[in-house]
Amino acid sequence: MLYWKAAGDMDPAIYATRIDRVRAAIGRKRIDALLVTHLPNVLYLSGFSGDSGYLLVEPQRATLFTDGRFTVQAGEEAPGAKLVLQRGSLPATVGKHLARTKGIVGYSPSQLSLLTWHALRQAAGATLRWRAAEGIVEALRVVKSPQEIAEIRQAGKVVCEVAREVIGLVRPGVRELDLAAEIGYRLRRKGATGESFAAIVAAGPRSALPHARPTARRIGKNELVVLDLGAILRRYCSDLTRTVYVGSVPARVRRWYRAVKEAQGAALDALKPGVLAGDVDRAARRVLERYKLGRYFVHSTGHGIGLEIHEAPRLGRGQGTPLEAGTVVTIEPGVYIEGVGGIRIEDDAWVTPNGSELLTTLGRDLLEL
Ligand code: ZN
Ligand code: ZN
Repeated sequence: MLYWKAAGDMDPAIYATRIDRVRAAIGRKRIDALLVTHLPNVLYLSGFSGDSGYLLVEPQRATLFTDGRFTVQAGEEAPGAKLVLQRGSLPATVGKHLARTKGIVGYSPSQLSLLTWHALRQAAGATLRWRAAEGIVEALRVVKSPQEIAEIRQAGKVVCEVAREVIGLVRPGVRELDLAAEIGYRLRRKGATGESFAAIVAAGPRSALPHARPTARRIGKNELVVLDLGAILRRYCSDLTRTVYVGSVPARVRRWYRAVKEAQGAALDALKPGVLAGDVDRAARRVLERYKLGRYFVHSTGHGIGLEIHEAPRLGRGQGTPLEAGTVVTIEPGVYIEGVGGIRIEDDAWVTPNGSELLTTLGRDLLEL
């Protein structure tokens, strides 16, 4: 994560509202304070984007703990939080601070290492009461504000531009790594502070590996090429996949592609407020099953995106979460045929009050290069 300050940054008032929502949530869980240790959650609640810090949310105040490298940044980005600079380690500082607290402190076990947990408990003393409280901030992050959706749309626009350019560079003899390097470079030239994840460029049989790392392998003739890339723009992530064919497309590949595209369309049609996450997944899966390709679809249909590239909700088999307007997800069905190749088409969409709208708009027709 990078420190930057720019016009159009989130209105500081937004953080006060978010912290109030955390207070309401911890009240319902009968805890008195919440220790936030996961950096994207710290950013979401305070605006602080440094790469070390905890936020303690109490009824009367929010306290940001970080170290001297981030003094100026914390003051600028998180004016709403009281700043405490660490002395010694971060958990020891926070633990000592908490030793003076009465009441029950909530924390998220999945976001603490065992070492940190021991250090916190040791510094806080035996009398402090802790209670596991998972997912409080994550639940708030699911529904995005119009400003957050606008940020993701912008990140989506940039990733589409770069995908279009880089698809133009795909030809026999080019290495997967060269294309991955072009993706990273071009995203930054267009204002991205980074990639949402290390771009995937996978050609030929390697395209059958859903999360292949790019290699020095050169793209050959008559191969599928999967490109999966994402931009972080002003802190928000986008995520896009396109699959192209080098050469003239054989009939069976054309049929696989049509199936994946239809599956994506079915999932997008199903995406609306109130639908269960698992039902969106089923809409895509059903199409692929109709094409007898169901067993080649080896992952979920999509995932939430926002400050993180993978966040709630997961659009997977049997997920019972009803989707709310303002949720932003990827829709990314695929088929992966070992030894032959894979096809994935991925776009980002938000759940509108009446249905859904795409935030990535690059064409989806099968390209022969
Ligand atoms: Zn992706
Ligand atoms: Zn994705």
